[in-house]
Amino acid sequence: MASIKSVRIKGLEIGGGAPVRVESMLKTRLEDISGCVSECGLLLKAGCELARVALPDASLAPALAELVKSTDLPLMADIHFNHRTALAALSAGVPAIRINPGNMSGSAALAEVISAAKEKGAVIRIGANGGSLNNAQLASANGDRGAALASAVEEQLALLLKNGFENIIISAKSSSIAETLRANALLSERYPFPVHIGITEAGCGNSGIVKGAAGIALMLSQGIGDTLRVSLTGSAAEEVKTGYSILSALMLRHRGWQLVSCPGCGRRRIEVAELVDKLRGIVPPEACTGLTIAVMGCEVNGPKEAAHADFGIAGSPGGFIFFRKGSFVCRGTMDTFEETVRREILRVNHNI
Ligand code: SF4
Repeated sequence: MASIKSVRIKGLEIGGGAPVRVESMLKTRLEDISGCVSECGLLLKAGCELARVALPDASLAPALAELVKSTDLPLMADIHFNHRTALAALSAGVPAIRINPGNMSGSAALAEVISAAKEKGAVIRIGANGGSLNNAQLASANGDRGAALASAVEEQLALLLKNGFENIIISAKSSSIAETLRANALLSERYPFPVHIGITEAGCGNSGIVKGAAGIALMLSQGIGDTLRVSLTGSAAEEVKTGYSILSALMLRHRGWQLVSCPGCGRRRIEVAELVDKLRGIVPPEACTGLTIAVMGCEVNGPKEAAHADFGIAGSPGGFIFFRKGSFVCRGTMDTFEETVRREILRVNHNI
């Protein structure tokens, strides 16, 4: 179940039943403004809806202000420890900040940040990370690290609520899937605020993608999470693509067409991976949202196994067959593959 409350960041609705959002975080430092602007462009192209940007200190606030003006991508400034940096970020025009209210140099400083956020209509994201749990938090949760993580978020949440601030996103992350799931399940059950989900320090390459996807999918399948980030040691655009792949696999949200392809076996009449690449060259991955296209190695099993696909191609002796919803449409040789794909898909989708 999605959160009851929603927030808006530069017009982007998060929570309250809005589609699960896909976020990332800029890898470029704010000192490199043109690099940040071009990374934002790549993220927008990949479908990113919100990006965090690290603001290590207030001296970089003018660069942040310039970035806010130079990109359409909604930004959230990521701030640690210093309330003056949080105030500088809000003055720079970011529509959201991520802070740890417990680190804001006392209650007067926090009240100042909250009052500035209220005045600007900015969202505050708060959160806890498994790596920063202290012994007292762990002891009071009897060693239940997931519960301790949830309590750490609750401590911060209490500080905002005490100041009458509810324009909040909450987040609890750990590099352990079990801990993250436990913490987020507790928080989602107890509070109406939108929840940001992800597995922190998931790693890189295939293992990072799988770890992030496993954790995020577990939470989403239990109705937990309104906005996600796949944390990868790699490009931010890759994080976004992976985020959409997770949502698409769970049938929660699609961006572009969906591929169904068989693993290929000794019966195959075509090289499945090669044909998938060729198909992607003809039908761009971000096009035809909602369509499912299958690439199957043989006509013996392919059309039946992919009968749910809107369109399908299966290898046959000397070429391929093209099918629609499991029914035969036409036969062709590889020389006519592109022409057939364009003609048959154009019949229902005129954008290609
Ligand atoms: S569709 Fe044909 S080639 Fe692909 S795995 Fe099934 S039997 Fe093998």
